[in-house]
Amino acid sequence: MSDQVDTTSRVDPIHPVPSRLLDSAQCPTPFVSSFDQYKAMWKESVEQPDKFFGNLANELLTWSKPFETVRHGSFESGDVAWFLEGELNACYNCVDRHALKNPNKVAIIHEGDEPDYVRKITYGELLQEVCKLANVLKAQGVKKGDNVAIYMPMIPEAMIALLACARIGAPHSVIFAGFSAESLRDRVVDASAKVVITADEGRRGGKNIATKRIVDDALAQCSTVSSVLVYRRTGSEIPWTAGRDLWWHEEMDKARAYCAPERMNAEDPLFLLYTSGSTGTPKGVLHTTGGYLLGAAATVKYIFDYHEDDIFACMADIGWVTGHSYIVYGPLTLGATTVLFESTPTYPTPARFWELIAKHKITQFYTAPTAIRALRRLGDKWVDGHDLSSLRVIGSVGEPINPEAWDWYNEKVGKGRCAVVDTYWQTETGSIIITPLPGAIATKPGSATFPFFGINPVLLDPNTGKEIEGNGVTGVLAVKQPWPSMARTVYNNHSRFLETYLKPYPGYYFTGDGASRDIDGYYWVRGRVDDVINVSGHRLSTSEIESALVLHHSVAEAAVIGGHDDLTGQCIHAFVTLKPNVEEAEGLEKELTLQVRKIIGPFATPKRIYLVSDHPKTRSGKIMRRILRKIVNSEHHELGDTSTLADPSIIPSLITKVHG
Ligand code: ATP
Ligand code: MG
Repeated sequence: MSDQVDTTSRVDPIHPVPSRLLDSAQCPTPFVSSFDQYKAMWKESVEQPDKFFGNLANELLTWSKPFETVRHGSFESGDVAWFLEGELNACYNCVDRHALKNPNKVAIIHEGDEPDYVRKITYGELLQEVCKLANVLKAQGVKKGDNVAIYMPMIPEAMIALLACARIGAPHSVIFAGFSAESLRDRVVDASAKVVITADEGRRGGKNIATKRIVDDALAQCSTVSSVLVYRRTGSEIPWTAGRDLWWHEEMDKARAYCAPERMNAEDPLFLLYTSGSTGTPKGVLHTTGGYLLGAAATVKYIFDYHEDDIFACMADIGWVTGHSYIVYGPLTLGATTVLFESTPTYPTPARFWELIAKHKITQFYTAPTAIRALRRLGDKWVDGHDLSSLRVIGSVGEPINPEAWDWYNEKVGKGRCAVVDTYWQTETGSIIITPLPGAIATKPGSATFPFFGINPVLLDPNTGKEIEGNGVTGVLAVKQPWPSMARTVYNNHSRFLETYLKPYPGYYFTGDGASRDIDGYYWVRGRVDDVINVSGHRLSTSEIESALVLHHSVAEAAVIGGHDDLTGQCIHAFVTLKPNVEEAEGLEKELTLQVRKIIGPFATPKRIYLVSDHPKTRSGKIMRRILRKIVNSEHHELGDTSTLADPSIIPSLITKVHG
């Protein structure tokens, strides 16, 4: 990519590891406490993966039958498998072994939608509930290998449902409870689920959500489902289909409180899960038991530097992979106390996260750039004055984080004394793959820094498919060798798996993202390869132009896309939202244009800047640039799959904004 504009030699500020983290009087000693130690461990993990992951799998997981082979298969043949011969049950690893040793330790802190509602569940209680539900599912005819759909609000019963499925070897397919009836139906049909687990209603931001009604609408057109198990969350009147619908509490009352965990091979499926759909139709990604669980546990241990008495809080929804790995499987495998948050960052006020941290003395806090930008936009007064001193590690995931938002998170939330981990990964990778380690890696705002153990990232030339060597380079991001928690297939569609990830660059796993490796070897994920803009032969990344815009004091969020241009090939269009109380001052567009010219260069001058009230986003909060691209290029009569769009009602106003 020699025509790529070289911004990788720019000097970015470096934040050393906060000294407090390395002071044993103040913090537990990090598992990896120097860059040299990280380097040595990483080298072993990619050069001797059998040794490294063989040891780690025995350290972090309990196997009912030991594995003999650590690794098998290749990207070329699409048959990657780990820990062959090994048998283990994910639920046993997450619940039983901790309940047996330490039954009174709190496993789940449920912070309800209303801030005065807190429910704590110990490992001992969790084991009983999970066993009962496992027996309920068995009584409904669910057997090892049957898929179960879960469509639930953020309540402990959702976690119990995942774990009960894992216990009996029934792969779960969690569908984010914000999805419409159509999206739910498609996913239930795709997985041929026999049982759906749901609730009467959800509660979010003080409002009731008609969860069961949506399930009924979805199931009106699917014949595979024989039972719907309904947890009573609010007690409101709901529609009922006799013979199909069952009350959770009635069935649980009948069930025995012990159920033996099913023996599962390491490569038996643990779950399927659909991607966010930022780039197209969601893919039903399939993860298996041993490798996935190891990836989830290892990343909580090393990236969040999890220690025995920590309180771990991931703010994602359980309907996304981040919720699977960092609310449920990662923390519970390590026997941690994990926080389950039912509400929103702004209910009842934008101080909710910070009150939550102070109240539960949270040590690790994990959220997304979209939430960080939204809270930054609302002003510092909401975060100031809360006791956030328990925090050691604060994390971000989901999109590139603009340096401006990173700085705010570091200063206002971390108070400059926490490790900030910008973690890069995907539904398909199962767990984090590029990230800082708290005690070992100095950070640069906006860079996910270095590969995690077992990850061998490369930048490829998109035209030749050849590896680009050295530093100060840009290309498409791929991974050179298999790692334990990678997805094994797309459910019922192995050829789509091969076409999407393994065939574009034979011998590599293709992420679909573009990235740079700067002069110090730090990785910067620049955004989707499809979103790269080519202006007069200059290849520009969306994230860089967006970050330049967000640097302006009036701007809350920016999305940049390429429009067709007869002269330059493509031209830059920017959609910008302003902070509240900022007037659309005259000349603002001009100021923003100058800002981009100054920071990146005149070739990056936006052709049009639109001030908008919001961006089209996925239900997980990511900006869907492909929709903006279609609008700008007058292709909005064929927007493609919009089922994962959070608020379709903003589309007409965007069209008016662009086309008048
Ligand atoms: P689909 O694959 O259906 O288009 P999606 O890619 O948004 O949806 P996810 O698996 O939830 O679904 O998201 C993974 C993507 O999110 C990555 O490929 C990357 O583009 C982006 N991403 C996640 N974390 C980071 C990060 N820390 N920095 C930059 N980008 C990130
Ligand atoms: Mg993706």
